[in-house]
Amino acid sequence: MINVCLCFPFRSIRAVTSSENTVIVAVVKRPDREEASVMPLIKSGFNRRYVENPNMMACYNELLQLERGEVLAQFKLRACNAIFTALEQSQEAIEITNEDQVIQYVNPAYESIMGYQQGELIGKEITEVPKSEKNKPDLLETMNSCIQKGKEWQGIYYAKKKNGDSVQQNVKITPVIGQGGKIRHYVSIHRPLHDQNKAPRLPRLQLVFLSRQFPEKIFLSTHSSMARIHSMTIMIAPITKVINIINAAQESSPMPVAEALDRVLEILRTTELYSPQLGTKEEDPHTNDLVGGLMTDGLRRLSGNEYIFAVKQPHLPSHLAMPLSLNDIPPHVAQTMENEDSWDFDIFNLETACLKRPLTYLGLKIFSRFGVCEFLSCPEATLRSWLQGIEANYHSTNSYHNSSHAADVMHATAYFLCKERVKQSLEQIDEVAALIAATVHDVDHPGRTNSFLCNAGSELAILYNDTAVLESHHAALAFQITTRDDKCNIFKNMERNEYRTLRQAIIDMVLATEMTKHFEHVNKFVNSINKPLAALEENGGIGDEESVKGILTSPDNRILVKRMLIKCADISNPCRPLELCIEWAGRISEEYFAQTDEEKRQSLPVVMPVFDRNTCSIPKSQISFIDYFITDMFDAWDAFADLPNLMQHLDNNFKYWKDLDERKLHSLRPPPE
Ligand code: 5GP
Ligand code: MN
Repeated sequence: MINVCLCFPFRSIRAVTSSENTVIVAVVKRPDREEASVMPLIKSGFNRRYVENPNMMACYNELLQLERGEVLAQFKLRACNAIFTALEQSQEAIEITNEDQVIQYVNPAYESIMGYQQGELIGKEITEVPKSEKNKPDLLETMNSCIQKGKEWQGIYYAKKKNGDSVQQNVKITPVIGQGGKIRHYVSIHRPLHDQNKAPRLPRLQLVFLSRQFPEKIFLSTHSSMARIHSMTIMIAPITKVINIINAAQESSPMPVAEALDRVLEILRTTELYSPQLGTKEEDPHTNDLVGGLMTDGLRRLSGNEYIFAVKQPHLPSHLAMPLSLNDIPPHVAQTMENEDSWDFDIFNLETACLKRPLTYLGLKIFSRFGVCEFLSCPEATLRSWLQGIEANYHSTNSYHNSSHAADVMHATAYFLCKERVKQSLEQIDEVAALIAATVHDVDHPGRTNSFLCNAGSELAILYNDTAVLESHHAALAFQITTRDDKCNIFKNMERNEYRTLRQAIIDMVLATEMTKHFEHVNKFVNSINKPLAALEENGGIGDEESVKGILTSPDNRILVKRMLIKCADISNPCRPLELCIEWAGRISEEYFAQTDEEKRQSLPVVMPVFDRNTCSIPKSQISFIDYFITDMFDAWDAFADLPNLMQHLDNNFKYWKDLDERKLHSLRPPPE
């Protein structure tokens, strides 16, 4: 607190402990004769003289003026101490000049980064300090014209150190407006670029971090710990580097930023970086059930119930000996496939026409269009046997996960592969991998979800440790079926390395259809592909061709494109023409209802209680599915691959479900008028 002491008896001033923050007022008698000098009062330690006045208001006015004037000024001055301490401690280099650009102050960080001593700079005009030649010629001019108008300037600037070296810095110059609205000072803050990676700062930061992860390391002696930490840099994980960079930034950030970065660090320390945290804010039971049913592996739901699936030997189709040929395709079947390159192709027509063998027929046609046999150096007869073998291992008794769903996913995959951006990104081996992955991606699906299998303690769940049970099984079984018999081994003639690359790509895509990883795949795609592409386009119109190509064709990004492609193909039902969309919605609902029925029969936990055939609202379940999984994913995929027709269908279908829901209807279709 700042004190105002009114000292009436002149002598009692000595009793007041002197303080720089005290305003001591001498209350004196009105002079009878001439005005006396205030000097004796000042010398005695008074700051003000107040002529005694019996008028209360006069006294009050005097106090008010004191409070607003001297007391406030003292208050500000005292704060200066703290501000200077902050400046002195700051790790950012700070320089203050006056309106004539004469240097008034530099902090110790500035001295150490630039190699000057304060005394060499203060009082000098900024123009007298040598400048780096590395800056673009017009940079200083732009900078000056900006700050002289009172605007802040921020940008990359080369500063010249005392020893002549140029250092690239991120510089922010803020004009400080003073009395009369005039610029009185310029404050510039310099942050060297790449600073975080430089040796002198890193060890300290790593110590901070290591102390959390490996508490024992902190006890090493300073010398050896430095050496040790330097040698450890090669084994530092990327996440550690990120955390170090953030720690470094925190040290020189204002409080709110440092606190925000604390929250960032907290998030970074979790492993599921790309998946939203589930179950916290979703209140809709349909979404909750979808999330619980599709996005968990059942670990939290494990029950002690024994429920063992009979593990069958892979199914051998009786007609394998007599494979079909493209030429053998009956005309009425061929007719249903005429427009297979269109998005609006009706797979259910084909399903009926070929007596539920759509995968083999559509496979023959689409694989031939993409030259798959030529790529694999495989006879067409082998491909036919393979398609038949795979199709035979889909369960025709499942209402949704049967070979028509596989054929549908293959169709969508082929459609996406023809999109310009996708073609620019992928090579033929990726296309072949995508088509094969789509064909096999749900093979031997039991019509039950992963959670169900885990809860039931099925053999598959035990085999795959409750982790990606179905997807692991689809991928593994696909290769078993393919390689156990030369007659259907489409990979038989491949060169070893090429086979390994292809196999890896197929496995990766099949595993990517697992819904627990949904948000991880979508977010990675958006962050690594859509955002960089958008940034390029923003910068220079269409973006420079080489950079675009670099983003599209990097091996890591090709993996992300393929994952996104098969994921979108797998759950593209809501983007199909309305009639097809309704049919698929009916089928998936029926499969879920059958699961709930069985869960009740077997006294297993009911994984998705809303999918109870007696109470379920199909429109609501579709709305939730679209809201939660589909909209964002297809927005991202459309931004990449340009799919206006799909987005139109999606919009249309969503409105259809909304309309039924608003009419409180639970069924697939409105009742006849
Ligand atoms: P799949 O098992 O087909 O490879 O993976 C796709 C997942 O999305 C499956 O779990 C499937 O049940 C689910 N799914 C696909 N379409 C729909 C739909 O229209 N509604 C709901 N609720 N789930 C769907
Ligand atoms: Mn599927």
